[in-house]
Amino acid sequence: MTTEEINRIKTLLSLPKAIVIIPHKNPDGDAIGSTLGLFHYLKQYHHNVVIIAPNDYPDFLKWMPEESSILKYENDKASCDTLIEHAEVIFTLDFNSLGRIGDMEDVVATAKGIKVMIDHHQQPDDYATYTYSDVSMSSTCEMVFNFIEMLEDVDKINSAIATCLYTGIMTDTGSFRFPSTTSTTHKIIGELIKKGANNSEIHNNIYDTNSYDRLQLLGRALSNLKVIPEYRTAYITLTQEELNTFNFKKGDTEGFVNYGLSLEGIVFAAIFIESHQDEIIKISLRSKGDFSVNELSRTHFNGGGHTNAAGGRSTLSLKDTIDKFISILPNYKQDLNL
Ligand code: 5GP
Ligand code: MN
Repeated sequence: MTTEEINRIKTLLSLPKAIVIIPHKNPDGDAIGSTLGLFHYLKQYHHNVVIIAPNDYPDFLKWMPEESSILKYENDKASCDTLIEHAEVIFTLDFNSLGRIGDMEDVVATAKGIKVMIDHHQQPDDYATYTYSDVSMSSTCEMVFNFIEMLEDVDKINSAIATCLYTGIMTDTGSFRFPSTTSTTHKIIGELIKKGANNSEIHNNIYDTNSYDRLQLLGRALSNLKVIPEYRTAYITLTQEELNTFNFKKGDTEGFVNYGLSLEGIVFAAIFIESHQDEIIKISLRSKGDFSVNELSRTHFNGGGHTNAAGGRSTLSLKDTIDKFISILPNYKQDLNL
């Protein structure tokens, strides 16, 4: 973002405005953390701010300061449409294409408000008036910190903002272990702890709230794990029936895909989860090193994301999806076989 753009945004935000902040569909810790962090920042300037999430999110995110004020588009489309149509400024956070907000796509695309994108996913679309995109960033939360810093307002970061931003950086970096974690990330994390983020409590709130059912489901997922050593690939499947057996709740499968990647020698891991409600197979892809799951997902599974973490979907049956997955691996033999 240029100094000129920052100055224009500063002017824009210098008087109270009607502002809507939007995360992607099926929001994760970074999406909810960044939108709430920005929300708490803008509130201090007496803007009329509201966060509208396309749909619901897991319970392990439902403790963040003011989280309960987040509106869910799926629950009240008409009043959310009105808010979006009347917004003077619309922030879109943690996604790179309006296709990522599901049913909200059309109303946001035609809304007249000034749009500001803050995001770290690859190949961002060009829909925003101001685009702050940086694929080298660990998380959108780290970018919201930078955004506040560019506005020369680090002093405005209170413990609510610090808590929300810490959460998203922690979840998107796999607790500070992915290669996207830089010394600057750690410097920012240090700053957020200074400003009141309770690191131990946040970790506990996110990761130590397992239900017995979720651990049993993890057990099933691990026993379904398959390895294809010649492609250094591992994948997990979960059928709708298996999800039902363990009383699946939103977010229960979060992180399962990483177990495949933790196998010695494996550089590519996937999980395929059947969803009768959405009539799709949800796919999560993870990799190590240069192998781009963003490219693979864009090419074959109608999705995208980052080099080492991407999502996608398939409208084939679970079995046909797996057959397709296995059939495309030879295309990537050189990259996987290193
Ligand atoms: P997950 O596997 O956890 O759903 O997603 C992994 C990463 O890819 C996250 O950063 C997520 O936001 C992103 N992602 C998931 N699905 C899509 C998609 O369809 N398109 C794009 N561009 N990114 C996605
Ligand atoms: Mn993110």
